[in-house]
Amino acid sequence: MKVFKFGGASVRNAQAVRNMASIVERYKNEELLIVLSAMGKTTNALESIWQDRLAEKNIAEKLEDLRTYHFGILHELIPDTQHPAATELAQWFEQLNNYLQKVDSNANRYYDALISFGELVSSHIVAHYLNHIGCPTQWLDAREVIATDNTAREGKIDWEKTHERCNQLIKPNIKNKRIITQGFIGKSEDGYTTTLGREGSDFTAAIVASCLQAESVSIWKDVPGILNCDPKLFADAVKFEELSYQEAAEMTYYGASVIHPKTIKPLANKNIPLWVKSFEAPEERGTLIHDCIMGQLPPCIIIKPNQCLITFKVTDFTFINEENLSLIFHSLDALNIKINVMQNTAISFSICVDNQDYKIKALINRLQDHFKILYNEDLTLATVKNYSPEVIKRISEGKKIYLEQRSRSNFQAVMA
Ligand code: ASP
Repeated sequence: MKVFKFGGASVRNAQAVRNMASIVERYKNEELLIVLSAMGKTTNALESIWQDRLAEKNIAEKLEDLRTYHFGILHELIPDTQHPAATELAQWFEQLNNYLQKVDSNANRYYDALISFGELVSSHIVAHYLNHIGCPTQWLDAREVIATDNTAREGKIDWEKTHERCNQLIKPNIKNKRIITQGFIGKSEDGYTTTLGREGSDFTAAIVASCLQAESVSIWKDVPGILNCDPKLFADAVKFEELSYQEAAEMTYYGASVIHPKTIKPLANKNIPLWVKSFEAPEERGTLIHDCIMGQLPPCIIIKPNQCLITFKVTDFTFINEENLSLIFHSLDALNIKINVMQNTAISFSICVDNQDYKIKALINRLQDHFKILYNEDLTLATVKNYSPEVIKRISEGKKIYLEQRSRSNFQAVMA
C-alpha cells in the first residue's frame, strides 16, 4: 500500500483537482490511501472566522465566501446540481453554520470543531469527483481512525488505538477501492474533534503509513522536491536527490516548511521511504528521504518567519540560575511551547518561539511575577546548516540581528 498526501495548493481550484486526480489515476493498479488537506487557503479563512466569532464580529461575508469557493469548485468538477455531492456539500455547510450559532466556552476546542471543516469538505468534494470520473474511491472520516488525547489544537496521538482502527477500517477495504481521508484531524478520548497542529496533514500520512506498514509515503507539493533554500528567496536553490531521515528531521526542526516536523519519526522507525514530489511534474523523481549515509552537503538555508523573541530578566540581582530556568522550562512544558533557539546572559534568558499568540499570553501570565519579561514579535529565524562565511553574510547583511549563535556546523540568527 502507498500513502499519498496532497496539500491545499494541489486542490486549490477545479483545475488543480483534475491534475491531482490524474496523478491518482497513474497509480490505478496500486493500493492507495490518500490524505488530503483543506482546499487552498481554507484553513486560514476558517481561523479568521473563528477569531471573528469569538470577538462577536459579523462573519456572514467570510462564511459566504467560503461557501461560494467550495460550491464553485464542485460545480466546475460536477456540473449537475442534483448530484448527491451538491446536496451533501450543502449539509456540511449547514453543519458549519450550526456550530457557528453557539460559541463553545472552550475557545481552543471550538477552534478544532470549526477548523476541521476545511479537510472534511475538501475530501468530500474530491472523493465524489474521483468516483464521478470512474476512479472508485471510499471516503473515510479520519476522526474514526486518528485517536488523540484531549489536547485541543495539538492532539497527541494514541498510537495503540490508532493502530487498531487503521487495521479495522483501512486494511480490509483498501484492496478494492482507493481510500481518501482527511489530514490534520482526529478525535479525542472524550469524543471531541481535535487537530494536530497547523500543516499537520503530513503527520497524518506518516501515522497511517506507520500503522499499516505502508510501502512508501509521497507528499505532493508545488516544489520539485526538498531544496537547500527557498527558491522564492534565493534563485540558486538546488534540489536534494536524497536525504537521510536524520538530515530531513533536522531541517524540519529548524523550520523547513516543506514537511511537518513530526512526519519523519514514525516513518524512520518503520524504515518507510518518504518521497517529496511535485504535483506539477509528477513524472520527475523528487527527493527521496530514507535510510542512507550522506556525504558533505551544501549550505542549507532555512528561514522561519513569524517568530517571537522573549527575554526573561531576573529582577533581584541574582543570576539566571537553575531554579529560574526550571521555572521557565516547567511553564514551557505545561503550555506545550517549543523553543526554537535559546541563549542566556548573567541576568537574562532569551527564547525564540513560534509566535502563537494564545500560548505566549499564557506564558507571560504565568511568569510575570517572577521575571521582567520583554518580547519582540514579527521576527525571522534564519538557520544555516553547513554554513560558510559567504552564506552568513548573504542572509544577515543589512538586517537588524536580535540574537545570534553558531556551533561547528550550524549558524542561527533571529532578525527583524
Ligand atoms: N489544512 C491544515 C493547515 O493548513 C493542515 C494541512 O494542510 O496540513 O494547516
